[in-house]
Amino acid sequence: MIRILRQIFRTGIVTEPLPSGGAEIEEIGAHLEETIRRRFSRSLTIRQVDAGSCNGCELEIHAINNSIYNCERFGIHFTASPRFADMLLVTGPVTHNMEIALRRTYVSTPPPKLVVAVGDCGCNGGIFGESYASLGGIHKVIPVDACIRGCPPTPADLLNGILKAVKG
Ligand code: SF4
Repeated sequence: MIRILRQIFRTGIVTEPLPSGGAEIEEIGAHLEETIRRRFSRSLTIRQVDAGSCNGCELEIHAINNSIYNCERFGIHFTASPRFADMLLVTGPVTHNMEIALRRTYVSTPPPKLVVAVGDCGCNGGIFGESYASLGGIHKVIPVDACIRGCPPTPADLLNGILKAVKG
């Protein structure tokens, strides 16, 4: 334990400086931190669900978690279990194969829960639309509280969309 603490103090904070556009992220982050502190007792826990996306949206969601954007400093944490989640961040479109899994994840998330559809595909089916393999947007399967458009949405779009969702 002592060794770990020593290592933590020796290493310090290693977050890298933000690339251009950093001021916008900092501003959104400050609003997020304040809103999350007020409405969620300092911590917003998100379960991300890929209901059938091309993974482009996931790359941007991973980015908000990396050492550049570092969303943890604003109070946003990701969890592997819907039972600990305040929010479901769902990319789409919903494929037939993922429909039941998405419904079960929604039911397993304790109320009050927020559902945010991510990307044009999550919002309305996007380029995949509705077909033999796809049901379209997330709202076709579970209730959606907010939509973050874009193909894919940028990290700033994602943080802004999460902020709008938590503000209600
Ligand atoms: S919105 Fe674009 S990046 Fe996201 S899943 Fe659809 S096609 Fe892929």
